[in-house]
Amino acid sequence: MNLNLLGIDFEDWYHPQLVQPFVKHLKHESKMFQGLDKIIELLRKTETTATFFMVGELLESHPSMLDKILENGHEISFHTLNHSNLNNSTKEKFLDELDIFRKLTNGRSNGFRAPTFSINSNTSWAIDALIEKNYVYDSSIMPTKTQLYGFNNCELGPYKISNSSLTKNDPNGKLLEFPLMIGKFLGKTLPVSGGFYLRFLPLQTSLSAIKKYERKNLPSSIYVHSWELTPEFMPKILLPLKEKFVTYHNIQKTYSRLEQIITKYKFTSFEKFIKNSSF
Ligand SMILES: [Zn+2]
Repeated sequence: MNLNLLGIDFEDWYHPQLVQPFVKHLKHESKMFQGLDKIIELLRKTETTATFFMVGELLESHPSMLDKILENGHEISFHTLNHSNLNNSTKEKFLDELDIFRKLTNGRSNGFRAPTFSINSNTSWAIDALIEKNYVYDSSIMPTKTQLYGFNNCELGPYKISNSSLTKNDPNGKLLEFPLMIGKFLGKTLPVSGGFYLRFLPLQTSLSAIKKYERKNLPSSIYVHSWELTPEFMPKILLPLKEKFVTYHNIQKTYSRLEQIITKYKFTSFEKFIKNSSF
């Protein structure tokens, strides 16, 4: 059976980029740590392991989450300290963040996902920083272009990435890239691997994409946000119409959709996937 990749982007209600400008004046009281048990239980009952791409400041305030994730066989990886888009950061700042996260995780983190998939030609210094800190992999490339992120004409399966070759295999690359899964809906290529698209489009769209990848012998890399799996802890934030729609539309459906996907297909953490393959 084909092995696929599951990433849980673990962040709080005030972290998503679309939400950030509208919650600056509010007290950032963290809520989502309360949902960790429910997520781990879903993974347990479906015999799935996952990679938790964790926003570092949440481990600072709730350090016991690290043990809970690791003790249950899951992987901890880095999703920046405060969920800042890499376009607003620098290599120096990012290197410092990597050092802090190393301490927070006792050196257990080997993988990274950029908030809002913000690795691009302006932020490719992040690849060098990850290599300098001995990271093994990145998973920040969406192989289709949207308003916010993504690239066209990109590798679909895992490849070696470098700062001069973000979308194609670089034989000398020292970091593995696991691009997110894409698929088709009504003839249009879309990032059907998670987030809003997994909630908005019919579930069959994502299931068909996984099947298509399987036929090509490629792993599907899918992602969900912690706050989508435990909407009971997600406050109702006052947002403009578009942001409200993208953040909350069908949010109650994510849990059952993910459950159906990981019941039907086999998903694992990036760490276990790498151990099982010939990289
Ligand atoms: Zn995120």
